[in-house]
Amino acid sequence: MAHTIPSAPPSSPLALHGLSVEGVNQCVHCGLCLSYCPTFSELGTEMDSPRGRIFLIKSLAEGRIGLTDPTVEHLSLCLDCRACETACPSGVPYGQLIEAAKAEIERQRPGGLGRRAFRWLNFGLLLGHRRVLAAAAAGLRFYQASGLQSLVRRTGLTRLLPGTLSAWEALLPPMPSAAERAPLPALTPAEGPRRARVAMLTGCVQAVVFGAHNRATARILARNGCDVLAPVAQECCGALNAHGGDHARAIAMAKRTIETFEVTGADAVIVNTSGCGAHMKAFGTLLAGEPGWGERATRFARTVQDVAEFLAREPLRGPLHAVPMTVTYHDPCHVVHGQKIRRQPRELLAQIPELRVVDLPESDWCCGSAGIYNLTQPEMADRLLRRKVRNVEATGAQAVVTANPGCILQIQAGLRAQGRDLPVLHLVEILDRAYRPASASDEAGAAAPAARTR
Ligand code: SF4
Ligand code: SF4
Repeated sequence: MAHTIPSAPPSSPLALHGLSVEGVNQCVHCGLCLSYCPTFSELGTEMDSPRGRIFLIKSLAEGRIGLTDPTVEHLSLCLDCRACETACPSGVPYGQLIEAAKAEIERQRPGGLGRRAFRWLNFGLLLGHRRVLAAAAAGLRFYQASGLQSLVRRTGLTRLLPGTLSAWEALLPPMPSAAERAPLPALTPAEGPRRARVAMLTGCVQAVVFGAHNRATARILARNGCDVLAPVAQECCGALNAHGGDHARAIAMAKRTIETFEVTGADAVIVNTSGCGAHMKAFGTLLAGEPGWGERATRFARTVQDVAEFLAREPLRGPLHAVPMTVTYHDPCHVVHGQKIRRQPRELLAQIPELRVVDLPESDWCCGSAGIYNLTQPEMADRLLRRKVRNVEATGAQAVVTANPGCILQIQAGLRAQGRDLPVLHLVEILDRAYRPASASDEAGAAAPAARTR
């Protein structure tokens, strides 16, 4: 196959797909990031390390190499987990570089009709329109509740599904009922002395699959003195599009998100999904080249806060009930590396009476979920998932706590595959549990409450 080799005069700023990759020049090739890179750790090959990929990105931008199959493979194997960014002493903005490279891959190598149709279905239709996503969720709920899913799985019909659809099917979480998928009220009023007026990103997939997390988030924020707005006009923020190289749509979605939240005049925009939070905090960079949007996007990005980051600024307001169990915490990549939030979730957990938190080895090591990576790179995703599950098992914890829906689904699937029936909870679920007296229906089996008042 012939590939176009882009030519760039040596003096022009380095860019791919119009996105700056000047950051490659900050790399001093020290190799300090190598041992933090999951794919390098698994494969041991330089081109599957951050340093190797930076070399490939620089060479591509300078027009010294083209997008050959091996180059595409090395770049596509990158999880975009950004562990290398945390480790790098030179401040290489690796996340920006790999997103530019992935956008360039999509431009030059869009694939056949089937792949393009699949991407349009996901990135254009489902993520781009909340109503279509809601209709798809209702259809999936019927597929599961009617018994059709178990029939299809029992008879092995899923093997006949084209492309990655069978992998999608295997990862389908149980779809909640229509009542549970209902949107949040436009306003959840603050309880007690008022601390802030915040607006919540309720997400796209998050809203239809994990609406319970959104409701728990709103309740906790209200208990901590926040008026919680949930703008009805909000759509997907475009994080998955940007992550998957769908740059043009990611830009349009970012603009729409800014417009929707700006009019609320809220003190902060609260996000409970790690990829969305990290993405929205980078809107300034994403829209830097869009006339009239650069400064506006940077201003907006400063108001975005992860829910743990926001809550940990003050002690949690009580009373908090006991949750007598042992848990371990998995750091989602785009919380710990993308937003540098490590201490805050642990500080919040430490405030729950009788909750014991044990350290998870390699807690900030990617679980293999990484957006849609577990579908596009199932083999590597599976290797990383097995590693994560081994680490979880070593802790002896009764539940895993994390802060991202993708990680929850992935770790749950890995534990299930090992015959382990361990709950994987979002941080807000366990905080919400601490705000309620324990009941017989509590999944975590919390014992009689012992309230603590702050
Ligand atoms: S983003 Fe993650 S997988 Fe990609 S090079 Fe960096 S550490 Fe490795
Ligand atoms: S990315 Fe950073 S840590 Fe890795 S080789 Fe380059 S300078 Fe060193």
